[in-house]
This record gives sequence, structure tokens and C-alpha cells, in this order.
Amino acid sequence: MSKNIKKIAVMTSGGDSPGMNAAIRSVVRTCAFHNIECVGIYRGYQGLIDGDFVEMTARSVSNIINKGGTILKSARCKLFRTPEGRNVAHKNLLKEGVEALIVIGGDGSFTGAMIFNQEYGYPVIGIPGTIDNDIYGTKYTLGYDTALNTVVDVIDKIRDTASSHNRLFFVEVMGRDAGHLALNAGVGAGAEEILIPEENLGLERLLESLERSRKSGKTSSIVVVAEGHKTGENVFGLAEYVEKNLPNYDIRVSVLGHLQRGGAPSCFDRVLASRMGVKAVESILEGKSNYMVGINNDTIVLTPLDQAIKGKSEIDADLLRVSDIMTI
Ligand code: ADP
Repeated sequence: MSKNIKKIAVMTSGGDSPGMNAAIRSVVRTCAFHNIECVGIYRGYQGLIDGDFVEMTARSVSNIINKGGTILKSARCKLFRTPEGRNVAHKNLLKEGVEALIVIGGDGSFTGAMIFNQEYGYPVIGIPGTIDNDIYGTKYTLGYDTALNTVVDVIDKIRDTASSHNRLFFVEVMGRDAGHLALNAGVGAGAEEILIPEENLGLERLLESLERSRKSGKTSSIVVVAEGHKTGENVFGLAEYVEKNLPNYDIRVSVLGHLQRGGAPSCFDRVLASRMGVKAVESILEGKSNYMVGINNDTIVLTPLDQAIKGKSEIDADLLRVSDIMTI
């Protein structure tokens, strides 16, 4: 540890995800371990501009590792997109004697952090928190594993009612740009079809596949649909289209929505958050800045923020194939 940093700030920003509290706890306790002061900033960049800071100690993060959401709250902040807003934010950090900032959030939050770093040379480190798992430079983001388990749990329940009534269910899950959640939860819950933003197999293929399933003796089916799927219809339009073309099916739609972001983090997310928080603080102490902490091959790694923002986290092509085979 070389850099003589005495005070670090931590915030959660943008869309919340399970595991953010575990990451806050880890950052705070790693600071305490290294005898550095830590302040929490409420409501992301908005709190940074409003000067909404709170002193954090090892004890102030007791009993939060198991809690969903974020005790520091999260927000979206238009003002931080302006140079004037960032100037106020910078002044507040200087006034508080804070020398580095850890941002737990998604690629929007990282973009803000990177611009802030470019303008003021201010040390920033990102921790990826989003259930979409759509960030380059990390195999897993905080909250993704928890959301996967939540979605699988819900689909299991939907399947119980689907099979009791010989119904076809369209289940919409989060994922505007990335299908990781839909694909993995779909395979895990045994979905018959999975529609993701990364591939467009067309409506015809969906009809063929559902018809094939019915003829092969399946009496109920689950189709998992990522929000950003590319058929050109929303999930209700999709259901209508299939109903019109396959009148034998009794169809229902279930939009899972924000329940996917809630709940106690899984053990995987708690451990990941703990590891990422330690790495974030210790990277700052080593004089590093403008990086995102991630995990690859079970090793905690750093990726430059600009790469994390610009890069694409590719969908697992092998899992797509597995999914095709499973739906025979
Ligand atoms: P996420 O971090 O989950 O992707 P957003 O995209 O909403 O969420 O970004 C969170 C916040 O980060 C925004 O409300 C804004 O304050 C800040 N931010 C995002 N993009 C920029 C940008 N280009 N310049 C400055 N701040 C930004």
C-alpha cells in the first residue's frame, strides 16, 4: 500500500441490485482495517451534489450483508451530467477531505465517474452492481446471481399453475440489451423457448417450435422473454400473435418487473461483494484510479473504466446450443 490516502467515499448509483449493501459493508470495513476514514454518500451523484454525506464505521454496517436494496439509497441525477453539477460535487468532496470515490453501479454510473476523473484527475474506482450482468470485464455483476435465483423460483411457481391448466405462459424478465438473465434463468427453469436481444429467430420459428412441442406431447409451456428481445412485438403482442396462429393454446402473460431487483442477496453475491469491496479500497491505496473491479476465472481483476463501458459482455454461445438441445 503506497498512496497516503486518509479518507474514501462510497456511493450506490443508478439501478439498484441485491449485493450492494454487502459491497458497502466490505468497502467500509476494508477502510477500517487500513485505518482510513470512510464516508457514505446518499442517493448517488445527487447526494454528492447536495453534500449528503454520512460517516461510516465498521459498526455502522452491521447486519446489512443479508439485506437487499442499498442503505445508502440510489438515484439518477441529471445535474451530474453537467460540468456545473460536477463542479459542485468536486467542491463537496474537497470540503469533506475525501480523496477518492468508489461508485457501486452500472455503466451509466461508471461513465459519470470516468468523466469526473477526466475533468478533475479525481481517483475513482467502480464496482459493478446490476442484475443484467451486461458489463464487460467481469463474468458476474453484483445482484445477477440473486436475480437468477429469484426468476427461476418464480418460473417454477408459474409452471405449477401452467401445467395444472395446460397453459402456455410468456414470462417477461429484465434485460433491455442483454439476455444473460433470460437465457440462464430459462435454461435453469426448463423453459421451452427463450427470446433474447442478442438473437432474432423470428416469429415463424417460435410458432414452429411451440407447435412441435405440442405435437410431441407437451401440455404446458413456458416461454421466457427478455425485455429487449428482437421480434418487434412486446410480450403482450407476442402472446396475441401466437394465440391467433395457434388457437389450441390457452395463453397467459406474466411480467416479472421489479421483484427481480429485490430480495436478500445469494451467498454467491455476498461473497463476490466482499471480495470486490476489498479490491476496490486496496486498489485506491495502491494509487490506482479509473478502473472497475471484476471477477474472471475466479480471480478479482481490474479493467479500465472506458473498456468496461465500451466493451460488450457476449452471450454464451454454448449455452444457447444447450438450450436448443434441452427444448427438444
Ligand atoms: P446505471 O449506473 O445503472 O447504468 P444510469 O445510466 O441511470 O444507471 O446512470 C446513473 C447516473 O450516472 C445518472 O443518473 C447520472 O447521474 C450519471 N451519469 C450517467 N451517464 C453520465 C454521463 N454521460 N455524464 C455524467 N454523468 C452520467
